[in-house]
Amino acid sequence: MIELKDVCYSYEGEVVLKNISINVKEGEKVVLLGINGSGKTTLLKVINALIFPQKGFYFYCGVKIDKSKMKDRDFVKSFRKDVVLLFQNPDVMLFNPTVYDELAFSLRQLGLEDKEIKERVLYWADKFELSPYLDKPPFKLSGGQKQKLCLACLLVLEPKVLLLDEPTANLDPKTTGWLVDFLYDLKATTIITTHNLSLAGELGERLLVLGEDHTIIYDGRVEDFLKDEEKMLKAGLLHKHKHKHGEKEHTHYHLHNYL
Ligand code: ADP
Repeated sequence: MIELKDVCYSYEGEVVLKNISINVKEGEKVVLLGINGSGKTTLLKVINALIFPQKGFYFYCGVKIDKSKMKDRDFVKSFRKDVVLLFQNPDVMLFNPTVYDELAFSLRQLGLEDKEIKERVLYWADKFELSPYLDKPPFKLSGGQKQKLCLACLLVLEPKVLLLDEPTANLDPKTTGWLVDFLYDLKATTIITTHNLSLAGELGERLLVLGEDHTIIYDGRVEDFLKDEEKMLKAGLLHKHKHKHGEKEHTHYHLHNYL
């Protein structure tokens, strides 16, 4: 469904993605792990066609995504409905007068009928425990509720691919647990970025790791990655520490503060 072939991306000469080749099948749940600055957000932006590979190719359902394809209005309309991205700190995007209008906004843009809009809005408001706030302005919600609202605003579109950029970064443990459970049951193909190793274990079946060198250094099961100290070192997630005990030198590995 999502196929990247040798994708490279740099910002003003600074390489951020280097020869990224990945293939994500429909319905897969993928966690994209890497330390800050490794290029996770940039990779999600490529998949969301907000930016385009400077080298290499991106195919969505077999269609090559590039600047010229994203000028095809009909294609863009269906692509934007299919593939959605939840930004880090998405609540800056909330601008409608009420929670109901916020949820209905993109559906109105798509030209759906009021009856259909109302059904979808009420369904997702209920599922995300936002029903009591439908008439309230979004800015009056708590941080966790705003995050839920932002996610619900995407899910009303019934997307096929959900891209989530550090979705739990600002959530308390209770809301994080709620989100993990919700994503577990979700049918859509999901790619979630995190720098939190323990969360990676809870969220995904498949783990992709972006190394400090901006290449994919691991693609496989979470459990196997946790046994691979060399790879964890390369990802910048472990700290190698040597010390002498009498005549013997010992090597210890410490996890960075991501757990
Ligand atoms: P991550 O999500 O893993 O933290 P990003 O993809 O956000 O990584 O960023 C990777 C690198 O690219 C960082 O060094 C960041 O400073 C740089 N970067 C990100 N966006 C821009 C931009 N719009 N212009 C210039 N540099 C950027």
